[in-house]
Amino acid sequence: MHRPLHTTIDLAALRHNLGIARQHAEGAGIWAVLKANAYGHGLPRCAEALADSLGETGGYALIELESAIALRQSGLRQPILLLEGFYAADELPLLAEYRLTPVLHSLEQVQAFVAARLPARLPVYLKLNTGMNRLGLNAGELPQALRLLETAPHIDGITLMTHFSDADSGPAGPGIVGQMRRLAAQIDQIDRAGQPAWPLCLANSAALLRYPETIRAAQGGWVRPGIMLYGSSPFPEQQTAAELGLRPVMTLTSELIAVRDITAGERVGYGGAFTAERDMRIGIVACGYGDGYPRHAPTGTPVLVDGQRTRLLGRVSMDKICVDLTGIPQAAIGTPVILWGEGLSVDEIAMAAGTVSYELLCALTTRVPVVEIG
Ligand SMILES: *Cc1c(COP(=O)(O)O)cnc(C)c1O
Repeated sequence: MHRPLHTTIDLAALRHNLGIARQHAEGAGIWAVLKANAYGHGLPRCAEALADSLGETGGYALIELESAIALRQSGLRQPILLLEGFYAADELPLLAEYRLTPVLHSLEQVQAFVAARLPARLPVYLKLNTGMNRLGLNAGELPQALRLLETAPHIDGITLMTHFSDADSGPAGPGIVGQMRRLAAQIDQIDRAGQPAWPLCLANSAALLRYPETIRAAQGGWVRPGIMLYGSSPFPEQQTAAELGLRPVMTLTSELIAVRDITAGERVGYGGAFTAERDMRIGIVACGYGDGYPRHAPTGTPVLVDGQRTRLLGRVSMDKICVDLTGIPQAAIGTPVILWGEGLSVDEIAMAAGTVSYELLCALTTRVPVVEIG
């Protein structure tokens, strides 16, 4: 016997979701975003599963240099983009050795890259700040960055990139119009006499699904889908993952490890945060915040017990949650429970807990064993 909690990672669903991204990408190259251990799904298995489908027009986008090197050492040959570039100049020889494409996001980084005189030619991405105000060249710095890069013999092509702050916001949100305008203004500063336009890399999942104009503006550039590959909607309040044709990759499954009848007035769990209004049967599930289930999920958060939708009761503990078994008379010790995934989107749990699926998927802890399928 072992603790029944585990995740199933469905690699066929991952490939299916990449196919949906491709349908929207209109021929653009696809950076499959696999940062943060492939959003908690396991980097090596996801990279390997996507290798064939990415083919000639795809690669992996990561944050972590060590992970990128590990992918190369495992024999994967696709391009790899480092979304935060490098942190110190002493990483640059490694980038050359392992053929990793850096995002350069400040003039200091451009200068350091140019000064490095690397032994191999590398493509670079130049990130432009168009309103997110995290990373990226300021308005007006692009011409200088390009002039600097022109002096470096170890550069193999430049792609311009930006990141949208509001591609996932509701109909009342600012959307992407302002950032697209600022992007165009920055590009217009460059005297491109006789030169081809630089390829662009703009869209995350939300923009890819919602704003095809960002793909068309890129004219055969690249897109950067992350969350949609894992089967979650970037804007779940507007459109569910199922409506977008996406399939969940991760299913978090456990079992009832106890069942009890409580009488009206009994309180459940820490702080007695739930009080029974009538006599009822409850189940105890082996899964808690020590596994990555969100502690802020309140009473009423949906749970599937034996395939039937029911609700969480009271506070989430480190190792356990309590669920309502009203209307599920067959429930007994050993009955399967799905916390999220197949039949219950992680987006619903995230919304109930006041967060986003990204956080839940990344936060799964290492004590949860993984079963790979597909
Ligand atoms: C994480 C990330 C993405 C992917 O975003 P999703 O919302 O998961 O599609 C794209 N671009 C950059 C720069 C990122 O950091």
